[in-house]
Amino acid sequence: MNIKASYNDLGDGIIHLDAEYLKPGIASVYLLMEGNECAIIETGTNHTVPFILSALTELGLNEDSVRYVIPTHVHLDHAGGVGSLMTSCANAELIIHPFGARHMIDPTKLAAGAKAVYGDEAFERLYGELIPVDASRVIEAPDNFEISLGGRNLRFYDTPGHAKHHFCVHDIESDTIFSGDTFGIAYPGTHVDDEPLTFVTTTPVQFDPEAMHSSIQRLLDINPKAFNLTHYGQVKPTQKVAKQLKDSIDMFVKIAKQSRDLRDDRVEAMNQQIQQFLLKQYRQLGGLESDQFCLDIIAMDSKLNAQGLDFWLSKKQ
Ligand SMILES: [Zn+2]
Repeated sequence: MNIKASYNDLGDGIIHLDAEYLKPGIASVYLLMEGNECAIIETGTNHTVPFILSALTELGLNEDSVRYVIPTHVHLDHAGGVGSLMTSCANAELIIHPFGARHMIDPTKLAAGAKAVYGDEAFERLYGELIPVDASRVIEAPDNFEISLGGRNLRFYDTPGHAKHHFCVHDIESDTIFSGDTFGIAYPGTHVDDEPLTFVTTTPVQFDPEAMHSSIQRLLDINPKAFNLTHYGQVKPTQKVAKQLKDSIDMFVKIAKQSRDLRDDRVEAMNQQIQQFLLKQYRQLGGLESDQFCLDIIAMDSKLNAQGLDFWLSKKQ
């Protein structure tokens, strides 16, 4: 197999790897290395696993070096590859939020939920078969749980809002937090100078605006040196980033509430408004690329956010 992983070294023993999900630059996997041990934070999908294994080899490690596999939550762009990766890495234990554990041990429901959203054909193409993980290899990490990777401490924070089964991982050594989807999305293409266009993700089916506000504030109060986002790469917790995250929650809720009574095309109506809001944010940062350039980068998440807001409205109605 001729697989070449695309990764870069962030320093402090942290490697940022492209998950090759949909296209390059969408989703990240992080390798945390300490001595001859390694933790893998996020797995991407089954299709990502060969890239992870290839990167391990290039870095002078191997499958047996992997001590922990740590998806931040069980959405499939983060955890779809867990079962295959655990099969390859015989010494690894899976660390997962207590609400996500059962879905890793028996992924039937997780697969059914994703098939309902994407359809059988797309599910098969995007994710393939979800492989169960033996319960004896699963460690549940409740709030403030700590574990050591070769003497390097990792602390876990329960951070609901995007999903109830979401935690963030604080690497105390580098003082950076692996934030999954909790600290929003910021694609490098929409960075303006060093300030990223940043917005929260309201993906179906557990968006909770109050919980999201609290989780983001908690992460800001911890004030780490940087956040390692899954979508995509490292960002600093600047005041502009913090404000954009909070404003985006409030704006998405406002868009949803204003669209509540629409019967047809509610998702598309919200999608359009989200796009306009994000374009405005991009201009406020001083972004000079064309609208189309920016929309090409944010379109997928805008649509997912609209779908999540639609689901949130339906739950409330
Ligand atoms: Zn997610």
